[in-house]
Amino acid sequence: MTISQEELDAQSLATLRQYFGYEDFRPGQGALIRAILGGRDVLGVMPTGSGKSLCYQIPSLLLHGLTIVISPLISLMKDQVDGANEIGIPAAFINGSQSIDEQEDVFAAANAGRVRLLYVAPERLETQRFVNFATHADIALVAVDEAHCVSQWGQDFRSSYLGIGDFIDALPDRPTLAAFTATATERVRRDIIQMLGLRDPQVVVTGFDRTNLYFDILKLGTRDKANWIARYVAEHADESGIIYCATRKQTEELADTINALVPQLRAVSGAASPSSSPIAVAYHAGLPPAQRERAQRDFVTDAVPLVVATNAFGMGIDKSNVRYVIHHNMPESIEAYYQEAGRAGRDGEPSRCTLLWNESDIVTRRRLLDNGGANERLTEDEQEQVRRWKRHLLDAMVGYCRTTECLHRYMTRYFGEDGEMPAGAHCVGGCVNCDSTFSTTDVSRIARTISMCVHDLGQSYGSGKIVAVLRGSQAKDVLDRGLDHVPTFGRLADVSQSTVRDVLNQMVSDGFLTITEGRLPIVMFGARAAETIDPAFHYEMKSITRPKPVRPARQSNPALE
Ligand code: ADP
Repeated sequence: MTISQEELDAQSLATLRQYFGYEDFRPGQGALIRAILGGRDVLGVMPTGSGKSLCYQIPSLLLHGLTIVISPLISLMKDQVDGANEIGIPAAFINGSQSIDEQEDVFAAANAGRVRLLYVAPERLETQRFVNFATHADIALVAVDEAHCVSQWGQDFRSSYLGIGDFIDALPDRPTLAAFTATATERVRRDIIQMLGLRDPQVVVTGFDRTNLYFDILKLGTRDKANWIARYVAEHADESGIIYCATRKQTEELADTINALVPQLRAVSGAASPSSSPIAVAYHAGLPPAQRERAQRDFVTDAVPLVVATNAFGMGIDKSNVRYVIHHNMPESIEAYYQEAGRAGRDGEPSRCTLLWNESDIVTRRRLLDNGGANERLTEDEQEQVRRWKRHLLDAMVGYCRTTECLHRYMTRYFGEDGEMPAGAHCVGGCVNCDSTFSTTDVSRIARTISMCVHDLGQSYGSGKIVAVLRGSQAKDVLDRGLDHVPTFGRLADVSQSTVRDVLNQMVSDGFLTITEGRLPIVMFGARAAETIDPAFHYEMKSITRPKPVRPARQSNPALE
């Protein structure tokens, strides 16, 4: 007897309501479950916390055979099994901590249909005992959690995931395969499909647009960043926030600056200081464990409103009322940014994510990447491939900083989620690009002249001198060195110092120039330098007219007032 599509849909909805107590599926869940129940392989790409587990748990109750879940973290497995049993899904796990008798008991329960959902780590698939069991068991579905671990392109590559494809192939009856991940770049997705051997899978990408988040990007000089942040914090002193910094030292310095400046700023604006206790705590992996735990506890319990942290902060921290996340530096990838910024507004209330960046962030990131620590497990060739891949991730991040497109759209498109936005439309969650107007300025002459000046100075001076020479500075240092005699001296006297500097920095991050490392960084020609002498050379700089500052998200959460 075959069951119609409508009946299957009705059954899965009834199961959702009966076991989980939820009224409706979230986007993507229904389509994935329908495909699985129809025997089609799937790849579900959904962010963490969006409800992937339910997509194999519901089929485990409705399919006739056993569902095996391959999950990389043994430490989480027990929680997952307990959680499933609690709502009435008969679940168990097999891992190395169990005795052989205990394992045999689980196998027997699975064969008797008393276990519907069996969790295993990928390493288990290589053991003879498990293979014997699986060969004789009636397996309807194999769900692979964190499927991106199969891809060498991901950060979390696990070699044991490479055995999953062979394990499936060796089974006498091929079960349906369902792969799930929150990491979704095109390359990783292709790898998952190929390495796991998914057959014509239904690919569902959804849930990446966090419509309660306002995305802001702001280009600021390094020195201006701390002041901007202190002002923002002072204006939002009763809200909870996270500030991400690139280095441990920065977290401590910035926390100190905030704790010193914010009470002053609040006093000037006439606001009462909430209390004399610190507003910000620093958090990074170099702090003693007790201090880290305290910082985390104080933040989660609202004893301090603000944590200034490296990317070590956040994993496993459950705080739903974070109203803003500010990045003091540009992260290395959109994935990293999405994950960190996404810690704002978990309660669904309007919240704000601000990324502060400048051209030298880009230069630093590129440099770190090119000189990145060698991984001994990889050959020279593989290391170069990884570097190239990371450059590609970084380029997408730089693209986010520079784009004039809707930031929600940029992000969801990056994660492979469809959804056209009509021209001129405003995004749902709001973003600075939808609220701003843009203009581009032709800076070809400025760029060409900078390039000539680098040549005039024999590629042996830093950016400060180059800007001074171009603007015709009469500083003693310039005159003493006779730099007022080079042909480009004073050629950009009509252009503001900050514009010359901005164009120079943009040329560095675009590869026309490079800056050497060391105590006295020197500006030299980059790989694309020759393009600047081409008569057809055209170079533009984007400028933005930002909206008036909005006071985000306050009145909507009276509990925080
Ligand atoms: P993921 O595996 O994608 O990280 P989980 O499966 O752990 O996410 O789900 C995250 C949370 O969302 C869980 O508390 C889960 O019960 C809840 N959830 C999942 N699906 C729904 C739904 N359709 N309606 C409401 N809550 C849901």
